[in-house]
Amino acid sequence: MHELSITQGLVEAVLHRTGERTVTAVNLRIGPLSGVLADAVRFCFEVATAGTPMAGARLRIDEPQGRGRCRNCQDEFTLSDLILLCPCGSADVEVLSGRELMLMSVEVA
Ligand SMILES: [Zn+2]
Repeated sequence: MHELSITQGLVEAVLHRTGERTVTAVNLRIGPLSGVLADAVRFCFEVATAGTPMAGARLRIDEPQGRGRCRNCQDEFTLSDLILLCPCGSADVEVLSGRELMLMSVEVA
């Protein structure tokens, strides 16, 4: 599960900046095409934060919809996974959004 190493890397990067201050909440944005499962990050977060000033912090994950545009028929549609296929049958799809894997903000005590 690569979400564990991603979550641990994120936690370490945040702690590097917040130091000894207690982190009470973490806000993330994870798109459906990021290759990272929000549920897996939720699962790993408690493990990754145990024993750190971030332990017990609330994790909020914004999960925006993915959008794609077909280069063949110019149709725009919702992408919910990494299967980039237009209803017209073309897989020549430009991803407009949904690849986000971003730390939006943290709240410190
Ligand atoms: Zn199309």
